[in-house]
Amino acid sequence: MYSFLLQECLPDILNRPGLKVNVVDLEIVYLTMGNVRRFTSAAELTDQGKLLRPYSADNHETIELIPVSLRDHEEMRVRIINWIEDTIEAQTKLNPPLEGDAARICSYCPFYRECWDLWKEKGI
Ligand code: SF4
Repeated sequence: MYSFLLQECLPDILNRPGLKVNVVDLEIVYLTMGNVRRFTSAAELTDQGKLLRPYSADNHETIELIPVSLRDHEEMRVRIINWIEDTIEAQTKLNPPLEGDAARICSYCPFYRECWDLWKEKGI
């Protein structure tokens, strides 16, 4: 999806309409306060994980980072369109609250109040 967005949006961002962007390799770096993870489509990488016992500065779990895969541009376009349509449908076409045995999980659901208020509002 990052590759798709880059190819679609970079010409506009650079104000160069008609520029053909061809992504041949992708590298994604996630940063948190405690960790940095780097994924690339070029190769598999490893990273330093949790500290292991006995604790020492170089005794860490090794995490294998799965390379990100580059998908066909048009395949991604179709997937993204489907995701957007599914999201719109989910926001406009609500399923009814669960009933019978299945409704037992409702008491643990974080959306219980909103769910039932919504269905009362719709006159169910
Ligand atoms: S309360 Fe939660 S689990 Fe129950 S129907 Fe609503 S959304 Fe689903």
